[in-house]
Amino acid sequence: MPDVVSYIREENIAVIMIDNPPVNAMSHAVRKGVWEAMDKLNADEGADAAVLICAGRTFIAGADITEFDKPPEDPRLPDLIARMEQSPKLLVAAMHGTALGGGLETALGCHYRCALATAQVGLPEVNLGLLPGAGGTQRLPRLAGVETALEWILSGRHVSAAEAARHGVIDEIVAGDLREDAVAYAKRLLQSGAPVRRVREMKIDRTGISEDFFAGYRPQLAKQHRGFYSPPRILDCVQAAVELPFDEALRLERMLFDECKASPQSRAQRALFFAERTISKIPDVPKDTPTRDINKVAIIGAGTMGGGIAMCFANVGMPVELLELQQDALDRGIGTIRRNYEATVKRGRLTGEQVQERMALIKGALDYSDIADADLVIEAVFENMDIKKEVFSKLDGLCKQGAIMASNTSTLDVNEIAAVTARPEDVIGLHFFAPANVMRLLEVVRGAKTARDVIASAMALGKRLKKNSVLVGVCFGFVGNRMFFPYLREAQRMMLEGAAPERIDKVAYDWGMAMGPHAVADLSGLDVLYKVIEEWDYKPDDPTFFRVTKLLHDMGRYGQKTGAGIFKYEGRTPMPDPQVAEAVGREAAKLGIEQRDIRDDEIIERLFYSMINEGALILEEGIALRAGDIDVVWTSGYGMPRYRGGPMTYADMTGLKNVRAAMLKYRDRYGDRYWRPAPLLERLAREGNTFSGWRAA
Ligand code: NAD
Repeated sequence: MPDVVSYIREENIAVIMIDNPPVNAMSHAVRKGVWEAMDKLNADEGADAAVLICAGRTFIAGADITEFDKPPEDPRLPDLIARMEQSPKLLVAAMHGTALGGGLETALGCHYRCALATAQVGLPEVNLGLLPGAGGTQRLPRLAGVETALEWILSGRHVSAAEAARHGVIDEIVAGDLREDAVAYAKRLLQSGAPVRRVREMKIDRTGISEDFFAGYRPQLAKQHRGFYSPPRILDCVQAAVELPFDEALRLERMLFDECKASPQSRAQRALFFAERTISKIPDVPKDTPTRDINKVAIIGAGTMGGGIAMCFANVGMPVELLELQQDALDRGIGTIRRNYEATVKRGRLTGEQVQERMALIKGALDYSDIADADLVIEAVFENMDIKKEVFSKLDGLCKQGAIMASNTSTLDVNEIAAVTARPEDVIGLHFFAPANVMRLLEVVRGAKTARDVIASAMALGKRLKKNSVLVGVCFGFVGNRMFFPYLREAQRMMLEGAAPERIDKVAYDWGMAMGPHAVADLSGLDVLYKVIEEWDYKPDDPTFFRVTKLLHDMGRYGQKTGAGIFKYEGRTPMPDPQVAEAVGREAAKLGIEQRDIRDDEIIERLFYSMINEGALILEEGIALRAGDIDVVWTSGYGMPRYRGGPMTYADMTGLKNVRAAMLKYRDRYGDRYWRPAPLLERLAREGNTFSGWRAA
């Protein structure tokens, strides 16, 4: 194996070059190589200073995450950085690309830092349920100040070189050849007699940091990072940086880092990180599959979804045409888009000028002939098969050859829609989630005849729109909604058994969901849910099945839109309604359902295990390619917290044996219909395997 670290001298400056493609991750080999380079530097009488630089497209972009689950090998990163910082010879880090995590921490162990203007730095460990564990929480506050350091570490965001320079994290921005400029910079430092400047010896600027600063920060942190394990520990570390001697604080950081690393949350977040990077891998649609050019896009229907989807395109600078059949509907749709953008301006997240630019990209159309030359048409009309078929027949007669015709349907059969055209290979589902301009999930629905290049083009488009695109197969509700139904079914069934909806929602919320199931049902509309259930071909012969929806629907309680659903509303806040409790109680009596106290753990099991079992069926049927894909659906489209990793990772971490055992417990009580463990779950539980470890044969 070629050396990943080289040591070359240019006059009196040593150049320590890391070359560990693709992103110069701080693997064991790199740490060892830099350690040996430090030996050489010490022994090299001709070297007065050294530049640490990376080959390829970036400075060290972080730790090597694949080593996380193995026992750490010496030298560990904190020891290497301590040694570098102690070096009697001046060390200069030269950064380009993204200097992240352990990469930035290594640079902070150098005495000076220079970077290309295009470089970005950051400590994104929080995104993996971790904290910077190689001195980042100690050195960054010394350079950038406490508040800036906290903001960077808690957000994990990428910071531009200019911003980093403003905060003293980068000393010199260079414009030419990084290596030449860094060597010249090191020489200038030597000539000017610049001292070996160790960040650990710097005093933290305590201006503005009152006695109760950290205590005051905690409630805000608890709100912003609700349920996450590592953020309060990040605060502990930064507080220690202010209050404890450096070495003592560093020891605390190391201890808390190890705790985070071993935590279920970090394991779940790491699994999700890999899952998100894997969604684009489709076995029969390899990376080099050609894609069709998508420059001209049209959307049919300017309602809730059509408008939101148009915003997705405008937000990334792509022009779209939005088609409605009536002028007033079009005006309404475009008016809603404008209002949504203006609300964003009020929140300070967009400027008026940006809104103008985006609005200019969205053009209205009233005639199908206006969109005949579109490369991609996305249909977002009413959820009704006859109307969809009519639209697709029209498109078939009108769209140019090679155009992609997509439907945003949530529940209808994409194959049936495709069948009305003479070109089903060009038809695909693009299932956006409401609000489409906000939610990151895009389910790309592959029809039986969808062409591979159409799939590749849709996945590439998802990337352009900055979505997490997950390829799914055709079935009722695809992946997300299909799993959402058992979850909602159990939530409603537990109401009939005597659990208050606010209690069920609180348990789900405390488990980490952004909203409880009943609040979501009220938001989506019980009328919409009612219609779906009524038209469902596979409706079970079970009088309790979505009985609450039917009951409240018949009372005219459609959810938030009518100010009353499962909850009653003043504004958007759901409040318990005694009328509902009474009506549901009466209904339960009619059905002969006994009222009882349901414990929190039963609420969690019934909500999530019913959903997970559906996930197992989905996997087995090949509707989703991998368990990780299902996890991405739930964490980017349904408000499941990242620290659970998604439903399938949650099941894996709970132990499939335990999930199965709980299901059998409910099967004994409720029968076979909903609680028979899926064959895949049965098998994996028996084998001691996991969903993530399973591969379809
Ligand atoms: P909506 O009622 O808000 O909008 C539908 C729009 O389509 C209306 O403005 C209507 O005037 C227009 N329209 C109807 N027939 C048309 C035609 N033949 N030509 C042109 N325009 C026509 O509905 P929505 O909530 O935006 O849903 C649209 C689609 O998106 C449905 O298939 C729905 O299942 C799906 N969807 C909805 C959501 C959601 O949460 N609302 C989420 C995902 C997917």
